[in-house]
Amino acid sequence: KKFNEYNISEQIVKALDGLGYTKPTEVQEKVIPVALSKTDLTVKSQTGSGKTAAFGIPICELVDWEENKPQALILTPTRELADQVKEDITNIGRFKRIKAAAVYGKQPFAYQQAELKQKCHVVVGTPGRVLDHIERGTLKLEQIEYLVLDEADEMLNMGFVEQVEAIINKLPKQRTTMLFSATLPENVEKLQKKYMIDPQHIEI
Ligand code: AMP
Repeated sequence: KKFNEYNISEQIVKALDGLGYTKPTEVQEKVIPVALSKTDLTVKSQTGSGKTAAFGIPICELVDWEENKPQALILTPTRELADQVKEDITNIGRFKRIKAAAVYGKQPFAYQQAELKQKCHVVVGTPGRVLDHIERGTLKLEQIEYLVLDEADEMLNMGFVEQVEAIINKLPKQRTTMLFSATLPENVEKLQKKYMIDPQHIEI
């Protein structure tokens, strides 16, 4: 299958072409159609499988450029991953002019605040700092329609469960949630049961 056989706009296909992504990886082939239909998803897959684009492509496709408030929130366990995901989303969404911001600790709050103040479609961040921005009112959640829990097992291993739950509890109920994890231990299953609606299970 090729990317232009999905319901993906020309602008996104062109960006994928430019990145040298000629055909979807296995995880992308399975995730993209389900994510485009706005169904909750749990995906068991490793880093290196192309998982970032598996959620990045449908998110870039689904967000409305005109909307000024963030529409997708992606939580990651580390700053490095947040930066990587931001870069991937920016590349995939470049011809649609999708703006992504990364927020994480140990970086000045003011810089991130300025980034969030501008037009920003997708926010990527680590749970502690994301919660900080929510509580200070610098990150607005009313328009969030897509939530991604990336490397969920790692996020919980690092002790972020309380922050993750606090964030989810502040999000609009009407949303699509995608959980990506290399392993599905009990604490990840628990999170899934508590916050996702009939998730489709995909295993690579
Ligand atoms: P990830 O699993 O998201 O960390 O991606 C692993 C690597 O695969 C990254 O360097 C991506 O740029 C690359 N990649 C993702 N999707 C594709 C694709 N469809 N074709 C070729 N490379 C890809």
